[in-house]
Amino acid sequence: MPENKERLIVVTGAGGFIGGHLVSVFRSRGHKAIRAIDFKPAQDWYRRFEDVENLTLDLNLKENCDIAARGAHEIYNLAANMGGMGFIENNKALCMLSVLISTHMLQAAVKHAVPRYFYSSSACVYNADKQKTFDTPSLKEEDAYPAMPEDGYGWEKLFSERMCRHFREDFGLRTRMARFHNVYGPWGTWYGGREKAPAAICRKVIEAKVRGKQEIEIWGSGEQTRSFMYIEDCSKGIGLIMESEILEAINLGSSEMVTVNQLVDIAEEIAGIKLKRKYDLSAPKGVNGRNSDNTRIKQLLNWEPDTPLRVGLEKTYRWIYDQYLARERGDSRVVREASVGSH
Ligand code: NAD
Repeated sequence: MPENKERLIVVTGAGGFIGGHLVSVFRSRGHKAIRAIDFKPAQDWYRRFEDVENLTLDLNLKENCDIAARGAHEIYNLAANMGGMGFIENNKALCMLSVLISTHMLQAAVKHAVPRYFYSSSACVYNADKQKTFDTPSLKEEDAYPAMPEDGYGWEKLFSERMCRHFREDFGLRTRMARFHNVYGPWGTWYGGREKAPAAICRKVIEAKVRGKQEIEIWGSGEQTRSFMYIEDCSKGIGLIMESEILEAINLGSSEMVTVNQLVDIAEEIAGIKLKRKYDLSAPKGVNGRNSDNTRIKQLLNWEPDTPLRVGLEKTYRWIYDQYLARERGDSRVVREASVGSH
């Protein structure tokens, strides 16, 4: 993050979960020049701050990336077509089309001689063969090759990482890349089909509690292993990686591995209920085992994402609970108004 608070920071995908959070962090640190961009209409942004420059632009188009990058000191490119397994398994072409955003944003950054550029990659770049068992070893950065990433979404991320590398080598653009492992927290997607496991489980538990249901449906056997990174760790890591001299894509994720069943245990404990579990083995469930090996980030930054899942999930649960009730009341205005100008 630039020391000079007047220098322009551009966040793409700012109407989404991580982008919205980043904008809020930059504001709270006193940055005066922030450009927030998303192609969703203004009323659909998760968070929108009236004291920053908000632009509604489709960044698939080269001319819009040109507008986005003009005058920028740093670009955080978070815009992508994405979602949880239910979305990415059924929208492979759409996920791959994010390559237009990745390509045009890089070109625009070079054209405008932007000093630093951040790209949000994903754990979905990792070779599927290394994630076949539930007790699969944690994924090290070198496990992305030989390439056999998640079909569609993962291929785009791996290709775009590669492009960032070559733009640095060939055009001198200072690119930085992080491979996010499952990020969760308040102001994220929690319904509608793009939500990821932590938000989906919280919502289902809340629904059961509010409606007096006794049962919860879980995608897969519940034995799949994952790790989940709290949003505040994510934004801290993005800042550290952007300022660092780490040139290759690096893991940014929690190493606290849990099964999906354990994730449900925690949500039930927060809610104070116990539900009968029904497993849908035909639902999209992703790889069997995935965790972040944090050896490299600890070595290079002397830090790793460290918010305990129990702590982060409680905050997420409480936030989704409020959203759920407001939505039940048909009171979407309450949800939105709370977002305007808040941190
Ligand atoms: P999100 O879906 O909440 O936000 C992405 C935003 O990009 C959305 O608001 C969307 O409208 C916007 N967008 C999509 N296409 C666009 C276009 N053509 N022009 C302008 N805006 C466009 O997702 P998120 O969770 O905030 O993810 C941010 C980034 O982090 C993405 O690149 C994602 O692939 C990556 N990532 C996220 C996770 C995670 O767990 N959330 C994990 C790995 C990687």
